[in-house]
Amino acid sequence: MIDSSTKHIAILGSTGSIGTQALEVIQELNGPVKVHTLSAFSNVEVLIEQCHQFQPKYAIIGDPNLLGSLKNGLEDTDIQALEGQSGLCEAVQDDQVDMVLTALVGYAGLEPTLKAISAGKDIALANKETLVVAGELVMQLAKEHKVRILPVDSEHSAIFQCLQGENLATVEKIILTASGGPFRGRSRDELMSVTKHQALKHPNWDMGAKITIDSATLMNKGLEVIEAKWLFDLEPEQIEVIVHPQSIIHSMVQFNDGSIKAQMGLPDMKLPIQYAIGYPSRFTSGFERFSFTDYPTLTFEQPNKKVFKNLGLAYSALNKGGNTPCILNAANEVVVDAFLKEKIKFLEMGDILETSMTKIPYIPIPTLEDYRQTDKETRIKTLELIN
Ligand code: NDP
Ligand code: MG
Repeated sequence: MIDSSTKHIAILGSTGSIGTQALEVIQELNGPVKVHTLSAFSNVEVLIEQCHQFQPKYAIIGDPNLLGSLKNGLEDTDIQALEGQSGLCEAVQDDQVDMVLTALVGYAGLEPTLKAISAGKDIALANKETLVVAGELVMQLAKEHKVRILPVDSEHSAIFQCLQGENLATVEKIILTASGGPFRGRSRDELMSVTKHQALKHPNWDMGAKITIDSATLMNKGLEVIEAKWLFDLEPEQIEVIVHPQSIIHSMVQFNDGSIKAQMGLPDMKLPIQYAIGYPSRFTSGFERFSFTDYPTLTFEQPNKKVFKNLGLAYSALNKGGNTPCILNAANEVVVDAFLKEKIKFLEMGDILETSMTKIPYIPIPTLEDYRQTDKETRIKTLELIN
């Protein structure tokens, strides 16, 4: 018998940082959430292990060459093995799915998210790139299908929590907090020679490689500004960024009477993951509690947009609109990958990104096909600039 109070969840990117923490949350909750789908890109061994533990209906591997290994590893189960984007799109539309957690990285999240929304599934959204690329299209589709887009990103979860019981029209502005990353306070000269190893050492959060590099360049905050615009229907001027190195205040909302609400806690992604999965319920957790006396000083400073120019580039992409944020995202994915492969230096990421943004034709009201083309062309152009 199917228990209607159980939420069936498809996890896209279950082997990553968010994916594995979501599985820990689901296990600790012990009952209200059942795993329907698990997926990885190439980490087939971990995916097979997760499948044995959580017994989903579907397991999906991104790399088609690994489908055979996945099938072999699942021989002793009834789990159906699928591959690629088509596999993700098929699984998220399954009748049994109530919610899709998009915890995969980059543009690859867009089409499965659109398919899930069209099939009426709520989205727990970690994959911010989806909203950066095609926020207008995604939110419009969600409205049409009466689907909730529940933020997992800690800043957006904070804002979403602050907005409970409030009227959106009374929001004057939101204040996104940023840790400042590992290179806070450095000059451009000092950043010339920083290594991949140094950039991968985030002071407060343990995350996947791409978002960790995005945090070091402040691009992550730029992507989050665009994500916030679409999630909360704000104008760019209503979205402020402030550096808060302790990452205790996860973000704030200022209302039209001047009152500011903040959501606080230790930096631990399990909390926003659990809030999104459980919404509208707030489940009890055993997560470590924050103590004010352990943090007698919480500090705040302005971000340095001259040194970290990606943040400024993200604001201009947002102001220009159309396919510009899609260009920004694709170029950024390419430069981050090149930096991780040690083909370019830290500061070259921003420089190449900036040039790349001038090379692709502007489309004011893009269709899904325009986004696909823009993403493809930008990747080609950006790679040309690198090589
Ligand atoms: P990880 O790199 O740790 O994990 C990414 C997951 O997606 C893995 O399961 C990976 O599989 C899979 N994957 C990667 N590329 C593809 C692809 N092309 N097609 C299908 N699956 C793919 O990333 P994170 O968990 O850190 O981040 C996931 C998303 O959540 C990102 O959008 C990030 O910005 C966002 N986010 C993350 C936070 C964090 O704390 N980590 C905080 C806030 C937002 P495999 O293991 O096989 O490579
Ligand atoms: Mg964040």
